Amino acid sequence: MKKIAVIGAGAAGCFCAAELCRRLPGARINVYEAGSKPLAKVAITGGGRCNLTNSFEGIRSLSEAYPRGERLMKRLLHLFSQEDTWRWFEKAGVPLVLQEDHCVFPQSQDAMDIVRALLRGMEKAHLQVNSPVHSVTPDLQVDGETYDAVVVTTGGAPKGLLLLDGLDLEWVPTVPSLFTFTIQDESLRELMGLVVEASVSIAGTPFKADGPLLITDWGLSGPAVLRLSSYAARHLAETGYKAPLCVNWLSEGESGIRALLNGLASENPRKQVTNTPPAGLPARLWNYLTDKAGLRPDIRWAEVGSKGFNKLVGVLSQDSFQIAGKTRFREEFVTCGGVALSNVDFATLECKKHPGLYFAGEVLDIDAITGGFNLQAAWTTGFAVAQSIAEK
Ligand SMILES: Cc1cc2nc3c(=O)[nH]c(=O)nc-3n(C[C@H](O)[C@H](O)[C@H](O)COP(=O)(O)OP(=O)(O)OC[C@H]3O[C@@H](n4cnc5c(N)ncnc54)[C@H](O)[C@@H]3O)c2cc1C
Repeated sequence: MKKIAVIGAGAAGCFCAAELCRRLPGARINVYEAGSKPLAKVAITGGGRCNLTNSFEGIRSLSEAYPRGERLMKRLLHLFSQEDTWRWFEKAGVPLVLQEDHCVFPQSQDAMDIVRALLRGMEKAHLQVNSPVHSVTPDLQVDGETYDAVVVTTGGAPKGLLLLDGLDLEWVPTVPSLFTFTIQDESLRELMGLVVEASVSIAGTPFKADGPLLITDWGLSGPAVLRLSSYAARHLAETGYKAPLCVNWLSEGESGIRALLNGLASENPRKQVTNTPPAGLPARLWNYLTDKAGLRPDIRWAEVGSKGFNKLVGVLSQDSFQIAGKTRFREEFVTCGGVALSNVDFATLECKKHPGLYFAGEVLDIDAITGGFNLQAAWTTGFAVAQSIAEK
């Protein structure tokens, strides 16, 4: 009989334990959880609705979804994909729905249905809550108890890595990902609540993201900013979350914006610029931008000289702000960094240095943008580990 320890009863640990129970009915599976409840985080994911995966539609390259861990996920998604997630949870009694934005939720819109399905799946495992593990040794002892296999699924929090001290592993320093930007700009703040499709980038870097941009009372948020925070997580940590931000308010190249403004000017020569915003730009934002370009509020299109025109093109295509800090996104964040992927065999997630030791979930240096991709990584890696152990 195999004796297996799973350390951490979060998404990856519980999914792995459920798969181990199914594949190795005779095995002794001990699941250690430091907190008082298993799956406490899953219960609050997606604002309590649990965005458990994504259809991946519109994702051109996996690196768009997984800024860290793309190569590993590409390989492991062949083993357990988003469609497999869908089938697994529906088979476990949780009907799912696909939203227009490609995110997948339980039909009930209740994350507890996911929690209950996982707990049913791992019923035969021995779950011990309030049981923080303090050490894992190279000979597979967990706080002094010996196992045939040990699965570490302690999540992204840096303290979950302490138990691995002494295993001589390679680490990638941990920093937060998925946050919004603090921008100190009083007149921008007056536009609070507006949402526009825009492109945002960190000036002087390759980091760039597109999508809805939300103006908030503290600065900028919305999917475009969250994506950018994920792509540039490490760079922004290094700058102390102070960096120049560039906003393209129309998600168009400079020549496209110039052509669009030329069109507006020739169709509306006698109209005031402030009364004729480009399609898709809210009037209040247009007024803010024309003011920033130095145009008089009553100026007509025919009166805008080439200097004013160029300034307007510049503000629309490369408006600049200063990021003054980060703000947590609705209490949601994931960690970039952790156990370096160089430690594990990509096919099995087994530790190269210590056979029998496995890693799954956010403890690994894998993280994603919002949209269900982080939980998909937990299911996929948890599945891969269970399969490796069962087939060994
Ligand atoms: C508020 C919030 C909302 C989110 N919403 C979504 C969403 O809708 N969709 C999505 O895809 N992602 C979402 N995420 C991200 C997602 O929840 C995580 O990526 C995912 O939970 C990671 O799973 P994991 O099992 O690796 O880690 P976790 O779920 O964090 O589980 C790790 C577990 O290990 C335990 N542990 C740690 N150290 C020890 C130890 N020494 N001994 C024993 N136990 C230990 C912890 O207590 C914890 O229970 C959200 C995150 C947050 C914070």
